[in-house]
Amino acid sequence: MRIVLKLAMGTALAITAFYAWHCATKKQSTHQGPPSAKDFSMNKTTLTLLGLKYPFTLAPLPYDYKALEPHIDEATMRIHHTKHHQAYIDNANKALEEVAELQKYTIEELLTNLPSLPESVRERLRNHAGGHFNHTIFWQMMVPNAQPLPTEKVAHAINEAFGSFDAFKELFNKAAQSRFGSGWAWLCINKEKKLVVTSTANQDTPLAAGLFPILGLDVWEHAYYLKYQNKRMDYITAWWAVINWPFVEKLFTDGLKAVE
Ligand code: MN
Repeated sequence: MRIVLKLAMGTALAITAFYAWHCATKKQSTHQGPPSAKDFSMNKTTLTLLGLKYPFTLAPLPYDYKALEPHIDEATMRIHHTKHHQAYIDNANKALEEVAELQKYTIEELLTNLPSLPESVRERLRNHAGGHFNHTIFWQMMVPNAQPLPTEKVAHAINEAFGSFDAFKELFNKAAQSRFGSGWAWLCINKEKKLVVTSTANQDTPLAAGLFPILGLDVWEHAYYLKYQNKRMDYITAWWAVINWPFVEKLFTDGLKAVE
């Protein structure tokens, strides 16, 4: 009887010990995994233009590759869209495959929360999710047979902010021309609902600075070098003939609500 009791007590002790060990290991393993999404402290953003989420894909251009000729040539458009833009998409997707907890966020949430992103993917998302965002809106900001001047609401806002359309154009051209190296020139709405001209380096977006972009120009050499070589200003001048002003007006209307 005593032996049976001792055996039973021994078994109970062994089970208790095993259970304690099991819990300890389980606890340890949950702490060794990747940080959970809440650790990234991601803020919501009202600066949403596209709302795109992982996996990102390349949308077809809303016009033919040769449709912006003679201002922007077919070869440049084709390579820019199918090679450069595709590469940004592929690299952004690869980064998000590595940190699956980030896949649920919109591209705007990722780009307005760069400092909160894990270091292992932060720079890649800055460059490649940024590149995907910038190019997706850029294609829509151009159109064949464009009207030469802004639509009424945008024209009014431009006059209010810069004095005249020509003064705005001069300021924008200067921002585009003087951006050293690769980058973008932008017309944006700021938090005070005023239009501002700015430029960003590489694939940085205005979103990261709290600005809502309504017009942008890619001044990377890949955007113009085949046709214009080193003459960036000739490309900038030609681009004014292909601006999709009704789309700019749509973004302007959306942006006024978004920055509220
Ligand atoms: Mn580009």
